[in-house]
Amino acid sequence: MIELKDVRKVYPRRGEEDVVALDGISLTVPSGEIHGIVGESGAGKSTLIRCLTALEKPSSGSILVDGNNLSELPANELRDARRTIGMVFQGANLLDARTAAGNIAYPLRLAGLSKGETRDRVGEMLRLVGIADRSSSFPSQLSGGQRQRVGIARAMADSPSVLLCDEPTSALDTETTDQILGLLKSVRDTYGVTVLIITHEMGVVRKICDSVTLLDHGRIVSSGPVSEVVSDVSSPLARQIVPNPSLDRDDVVGKTIIDVAFTSRPGEPTGSRVMAMAAELGADIGAGTFETLGNVQVARLALTLDPDRADEAIDSFSKAGIVAEVRAA
Ligand code: ADP
Repeated sequence: MIELKDVRKVYPRRGEEDVVALDGISLTVPSGEIHGIVGESGAGKSTLIRCLTALEKPSSGSILVDGNNLSELPANELRDARRTIGMVFQGANLLDARTAAGNIAYPLRLAGLSKGETRDRVGEMLRLVGIADRSSSFPSQLSGGQRQRVGIARAMADSPSVLLCDEPTSALDTETTDQILGLLKSVRDTYGVTVLIITHEMGVVRKICDSVTLLDHGRIVSSGPVSEVVSDVSSPLARQIVPNPSLDRDDVVGKTIIDVAFTSRPGEPTGSRVMAMAAELGADIGAGTFETLGNVQVARLALTLDPDRADEAIDSFSKAGIVAEVRAA
């Protein structure tokens, strides 16, 4: 479990105003959960990860990993606590001069495991990530996806309870991204490890995150289980995770586009009710997105209709409790 309590990180700058990289972050990620941290560049994501690896000390507040307060541990205990944290990097960050097996073995030997123990563990990890046949390949002989598999194997080798992943798939193509995300999920399912993923890719949040936090200027804008966050369909984070469907304006010349959003949660209008309302308004469905996240289905429809019925449409959808807005030109 990861617990952040009112964490602030301030970088002093000579002659200029201090940079507040983290501004009172409080967050709990329960054991075995996959949590995504998203936010624009400069939001504080990397600072947060550096504080979690104890590479940086927060200016104030506390960070607890499995109950250990990283800022307060003496050096020898901090070393042990760090062993409970595995790290997966964007481009895998492997040692070029070592084979796949050698990369995975490296932290184990440093941690004092015997040659035999290391060999067994490396074999187990290579099988876990599905590249047992590439153990003697060097990083330059592996694809990007295979390198990241080695990166995950190395991070998991010392049996961490927490896996920190810094943009783990942003260097990969879509298909490989899906495979690596699938692997991270199965690693969590098998070992119960708590996973924190920093990402700018909303697909990562949709595909594997149980919960998510949006950071902006060092502050939490919104945070919670993905199914709850996306249910607040008009919130900025929900719009990022499940965006409005794209619709080419050239295909709907002379029409107004109205974006409506609704979910499958009890008490909300059903899809057929929304369709019936659209039909009454003489609207067509120009495009649509449906996503199932946890136990919630989120729908976003781009309706096209005559401009002189737009006000009526917004009014009737709003009265029915459906989020509806005219898409800006
Ligand atoms: P992100 O990873 O979301 O892009 P960062 O954590 O890298 O954001 O940065 C957050 C803010 O802190 C930015 O304004 C950045 O310029 C600043 N910052 C990060 N590291 C340092 C540092 N070592 N010294 C001074 N400012 C820093």
